[in-house]
Amino acid sequence: MSSLRPSPITPTVDFDRDGVQHGFLRLPYSRDDSAWGSVMIPICVIRNGNGPSALLTGGNHGDEYEGPLALYDLARTLDPRQVSGTVIIVPAMNYPAFRAGTRTSPIDKGNLNRSFPGRPDGTVTEKIADYFQRELLPRTDIALDFHSGGRTLDFVPFCAAHIRPDKALEAKGFAAVEAFSAPWSMKMLEIDAVGMFDTAAEEMGKLFITTELGGGGTSRAETVRIARRGVLNVLRHAGIVTGAVEMQPTRWLDMPSGDCFSFAEDDGMIETMIDLGEPVEEGQVLARIHSIGRTGTAPQEIRARMSGLLAARHFPGLVKAGDCTAVVAVLVD
Ligand SMILES: [Zn+2]
Repeated sequence: MSSLRPSPITPTVDFDRDGVQHGFLRLPYSRDDSAWGSVMIPICVIRNGNGPSALLTGGNHGDEYEGPLALYDLARTLDPRQVSGTVIIVPAMNYPAFRAGTRTSPIDKGNLNRSFPGRPDGTVTEKIADYFQRELLPRTDIALDFHSGGRTLDFVPFCAAHIRPDKALEAKGFAAVEAFSAPWSMKMLEIDAVGMFDTAAEEMGKLFITTELGGGGTSRAETVRIARRGVLNVLRHAGIVTGAVEMQPTRWLDMPSGDCFSFAEDDGMIETMIDLGEPVEEGQVLARIHSIGRTGTAPQEIRARMSGLLAARHFPGLVKAGDCTAVVAVLVD
């Protein structure tokens, strides 16, 4: 680590100064339309004396909106007199992707959430990851990274933490998830954890929680309300913002194995056979994929490999072989 060159990113904010600062993480990016130009990633720091520090992020994927809506709002409204410690808000982490409304960066096709730990001499996306890895995560006690399904998935709204080898940290994560108070809370399993921000934070021993709050490349009134209430609740729970946590009823879900996930094996038009949040029996048909190239072909059936409820589904009407079509989670009582 110590042999790496410094990050090329320059913050225009001072992380140790009290008050509210709205500024940028300035990342030099020389290109055709701007010879000595930079990517200007918005950042807000709200600090009031010594105390715990929270890192709040959205737009890790650029087509997910509940997090950015809640975080631009929080940056505008959080009064430093309510804070003890530091709140660092980056509402659009992969800002080039967020500007383009796409999951990955239009500059280098980088998926920020598969780019950790990043590189100070890598692509634009790798440079962003490296800055979070080496500059922001180390100064953080609790990180909340907002996600939704983006253009291609839709989720029942949940806050989540991972199963962790350190059971004390795991319990703290699940307590923070409960404080977030989404309608659903998830013990989350990842398909592909290598390179994720989550993994970077957890390997550093940080308390880390995340969300999936809807999707389809848009937001809904209900999911944005959940995001706004949740972020304040987590800050109150962490003792960084004054006031009591507004607890709401939540139901716990678990993703016990890779049998949660179903994938398309053919291209075609997808017909969802059950809706989000509905109960699922093992073997039940979750979706059918209809061939569109010819008539007279029987649809491919996507069957549940375990019982539970439908926690996520493919969102667009057309599907390609390899697309994740459905995620089943188990209700924990
Ligand atoms: Zn995401």
